[in-house]
Amino acid sequence: MNIMLTNRCNGTCQYCFLKGELAQDHGVPKDITLEDFHTILKYAHHLFSLGSIDSLNLMGGEPTLHPKFREILKASLTYKTKKSGFMPVSIFTNGLFPEETGKLLQQEGCRVMVNVNHPLSYPECHWNMLHKNLSILTETIASEPWVTLSLNIDRADQDFEYLLDLCQQYRIKKIRVDISRPEPNKRNTHIKMEDIPGVMPLLVNLAQRCKQMGIEMNTDCCLPICGISNEQLQSLEKSGVELSFKCSGGIDVTPDLEIWHCAPLRSIKFGKITDYPDGVALVKEIARKTAPLRWNVSSKESCKDCKWWTLKICQGGCLSSKKMDGIF
Ligand code: SF4
Ligand code: SF4
Repeated sequence: MNIMLTNRCNGTCQYCFLKGELAQDHGVPKDITLEDFHTILKYAHHLFSLGSIDSLNLMGGEPTLHPKFREILKASLTYKTKKSGFMPVSIFTNGLFPEETGKLLQQEGCRVMVNVNHPLSYPECHWNMLHKNLSILTETIASEPWVTLSLNIDRADQDFEYLLDLCQQYRIKKIRVDISRPEPNKRNTHIKMEDIPGVMPLLVNLAQRCKQMGIEMNTDCCLPICGISNEQLQSLEKSGVELSFKCSGGIDVTPDLEIWHCAPLRSIKFGKITDYPDGVALVKEIARKTAPLRWNVSSKESCKDCKWWTLKICQGGCLSSKKMDGIF
């Protein structure tokens, strides 16, 4: 479950799938209230105790910009069930925060995913801040890799060496990679469905480099099976990268308590989290409402006769690429 603590952000990622939603886009900052955050925690705890979610992800905008970030973090970390123990908490950040925040995250031992862009896209002061914070976050190396670097691919010729250099410099052993998905109005830079085969060589190359360096690489959202050659699939498998071809129902909660399946699919409305008696009802409704888009609307003509679609193994790539007219 992803909770968007704030729509404020101090970054300028051109591929951001929240383009149009951020305070910098429309001038209206929104921060979740502590009371609303505690309400969401109840739903999250319920789903966690049932095994329906495995972590709570605090995101933004830039989540550390929330004026009460410290209180929110502490509240998230205190929940424990007899059966499953503490609910893991992950922070999705751009790494641009004051040193005290870095120390707080380091002390609390929550998982931190730092999204990093090419060095040339940052002003020098931000790049220095990112380095300082990575050094704070990785001061103590836990047994489990708890700092992950994240890369978003929005061009087939994108450079990734800087990310591997950071992994080496800060002894980071895990990266998360995804191709950039279109936001509903397609204002962000993203990879179109037809351009996916063109970025696969980059993904394969990166996976091979990670394997050589002992870095675990994970991908995020699903890809269309026909966008990948068998040779590429074999190479990714050898590098330890597992791909998925259908996405499970995500749950994003906004500062206003609105529910999204995910940010790129935010034009599908689910109302507020408080409209649902519990987390189970919410999960069921998300699955019910997105199923027709997943399995009745094809991404392209060839899906209609494709065995992978018939078998419900490939949903035809990201749902945000599909035409929603007449479905919602
Ligand atoms: S379902 Fe569509 S996107 Fe998936 S493999 Fe078949 S033709 Fe390709
Ligand atoms: S629709 Fe699925 S694949 Fe696309 S961004 Fe959302 S979760 Fe990821």
